[in-house]
Amino acid sequence: IFITFEGGEGAGKSTILERTANFLREHNYQVTTTREPGGIPIAEKIRHIILDTEHTEMDPRTEALLYAAARRQHLVEKVIPALDRGDIVLCDRFIDSSLAYQGYARGLGMDEILSINQFAIADFMPELTLYLDVDPEIGLQRINQTKDREINRLDLEALDFHIQVREGYKEVLKKFPQRVKKINANQTEEQVLLDVRNDILARL
Ligand code: C5P
Repeated sequence: IFITFEGGEGAGKSTILERTANFLREHNYQVTTTREPGGIPIAEKIRHIILDTEHTEMDPRTEALLYAAARRQHLVEKVIPALDRGDIVLCDRFIDSSLAYQGYARGLGMDEILSINQFAIADFMPELTLYLDVDPEIGLQRINQTKDREINRLDLEALDFHIQVREGYKEVLKKFPQRVKKINANQTEEQVLLDVRNDILARL
């Protein structure tokens, strides 16, 4: 089963994803964890191009195409082989990030972003998406408190951008109500973890 984690900055995706993987492994499931953009060398290089703090001149359509390109390579090189082995795949971000960030917040249009991504992934959609919904002010406070976090170009965006991203995810929830589950990520880490576990166990 292919499960993706989504959310704005400071929602706690990477921590919750790792803890969820550990929980599933303790219950004898085979789990592959990965992230986007990245997860394999070609896609990590594309990630570096996109997120470099010096690349402030990056055009939004270029950015959207690079995300889609990284997604394609990561999907065929890592996600599909892991699913073929029978693993549970937990992926930090996928198509919904592009819909919320590039489609909605950057204003490129969600339908346009959906169509370039359909070309990239050829209708290969996750079966379950856990959207960790955090109040952008709380999220930004959290990332400012995390000392070892590498600062990227998106961290430099104003609060308003992150509010737009959250609005974008609201549209994603409306578009894909069966697949996407919203989880209140303003709660404590333990509570978020419990909610995530319950949603996953209900699908296994
Ligand atoms: O997953 P993580 O939070 O590390 O993502 C790295 C950065 O890429 C974030 O700042 C996120 O806002 C940005 N991003 C984006 N559009 C995507 C995926 C990620 O702007 N489609």
